Amino acid sequence: MGADCLFCKIVAGSIPAKRVYDDAHCLAFADINPQAPTHLLVIPKEHIPSTARTEEAHSPLLGHLIAKTAQIARDAGLNNGYRLVINTGEEGGQTVDHLHVHLLGGRQMHWPPG
Ligand code: AMP
Ligand code: ZN
Repeated sequence: MGADCLFCKIVAGSIPAKRVYDDAHCLAFADINPQAPTHLLVIPKEHIPSTARTEEAHSPLLGHLIAKTAQIARDAGLNNGYRLVINTGEEGGQTVDHLHVHLLGGRQMHWPPG
């Protein structure tokens, strides 16, 4: 567990979250400040600070994370599409230093992102 990491505390259950999916390797829960009708965060249970800190050995876990996110999107009924976002580092807009995939759906997305 990362020292004082908010999302590690959600994994541990010491901070509450609206959980929608949970397995041995990852957890999905509702974003507290939703930016779309569906806005979930899908995270590895292992504390990885960001994609910038991933290594070759993380590849199976990262594949699992994306495949499960797609499953969660299907289960949420996002049949017309959705957007996955992984903010990385300061210029990437990352505010919580535990790798997370934003799953956004239920409205039309636009490009380029802000
Ligand atoms: P990012 O800016 O990509 O690091 O995303 C962090 C996300 O975590 C933001 O969308 C926040 O709304 C969300 N967030 C922060 N605290 C919580 C919390 N306690 N429970 C659920 N989501 C949170
Ligand atoms: Zn963490």
